[in-house]
Amino acid sequence: MRKRALVTGGAGQDGWYLIELLLSRGYDVFSHSRRPVDAGMHGGRVFWHIGDLTHEVFLKDLLSISAPDEIYNLAAVSRPALSWDIPIETALLNALVPQRICEFIRCELPTTSLFQASSSEIYGDSPAQLQNEQTRANPKSPYGISKAYAHQTIGAYRQRYGLHLSCGILFNHESPRRPLGFVSQKIAHAAAAASLGLIETRELDERGRPILSDGKLYLGDINVRRDFGFAGDFIEAMPLIVQSDAPSDFVVGTGHAHSIAEFCELAFTVGGLDWTKFVVVDPLLLRKVDSHFTRADSSKLQSELGWRPKVDFPALVDMMVQERIRVLKLSMASTDAGVAEPRTAWYRSSSIPGS
Ligand code: NAP
Repeated sequence: MRKRALVTGGAGQDGWYLIELLLSRGYDVFSHSRRPVDAGMHGGRVFWHIGDLTHEVFLKDLLSISAPDEIYNLAAVSRPALSWDIPIETALLNALVPQRICEFIRCELPTTSLFQASSSEIYGDSPAQLQNEQTRANPKSPYGISKAYAHQTIGAYRQRYGLHLSCGILFNHESPRRPLGFVSQKIAHAAAAASLGLIETRELDERGRPILSDGKLYLGDINVRRDFGFAGDFIEAMPLIVQSDAPSDFVVGTGHAHSIAEFCELAFTVGGLDWTKFVVVDPLLLRKVDSHFTRADSSKLQSELGWRPKVDFPALVDMMVQERIRVLKLSMASTDAGVAEPRTAWYRSSSIPGS
């Protein structure tokens, strides 16, 4: 019999890679998004359900119809900064939906295994050099708090009811599929545009300004350090965790931390450029960050389940910039051919009036 998996938030970064992996292993995959999904995505092999997970009836129907052997709960308000703008939605989706899933499993699907996408943000500004499964949760944002609630709820249900409920404590992971709202993708995009000789991008930042504006990329604190991994590696940990003999919590990360400045340096180097000529620290973007430093100790995952990250930091940055170059070239070609209507003009340095 084919195994059935339900992936919530399947149209997001991790969802895309995980669904590809599960399909390649012969699963029937059910997924969810709030908006209609391109029917051709994943070769049309996914059973999509469109709706709002925070609506209890929709969630129950989704769980009943898919009747999964494995649930991967990835849907979330996934940006800590955004969670300050929509704290209630964050709590409902990130904290209460996982609890409702636990309740449903307890009552209706007791043999189903759950993977919950937990986050290193549950540690907040941890004083520990390395964070592992024993590190105390000390979240500092609505996002971190909601993830900590889900994390501890799942631990409590696992203990009390003996269900196969596990959390992957995911550290930062990036990929060419990262949305442009995330700083890594913003840097990759700006570096790609600069390498093509552009000084302005059509794509806008959170303040409605071109990501590359007059040849500059404006960032906040570039000294923040993160344990950056590749999403394609991280999603391989998820089935390992779901299928482990004993359910548990596992830290998922590379163990190497890099600053935003290092990310910029590598990204602009792809096009042979000096990042310091493009990156400007904007005091208005220096908002208070909730965790300055994260570095994962994933030795439990490595020793018990044999997981290893394959893509290192330079290869990850290179992959992201190369993909943005490809996307930008396609977009420029279709604009030049009159296929796409430009929202703002493409400005190459040579085409700027007076330059
Ligand atoms: P992502 O690309 O932002 O995808 C998140 C998904 O959640 C999207 O597909 C989106 O679905 C859904 N979603 C967002 N807001 C929603 C809302 N208000 N109501 C219902 N659905 C909503 O995130 P990701 O990078 O793939 O991350 C996957 C999971 O890992 C998330 O739970 C995230 O918190 C966690 N995590 C990620 C990282 C990381 O570095 N990537 C680190 C730690 C933890 P639609 O827009 O299609 O509806």
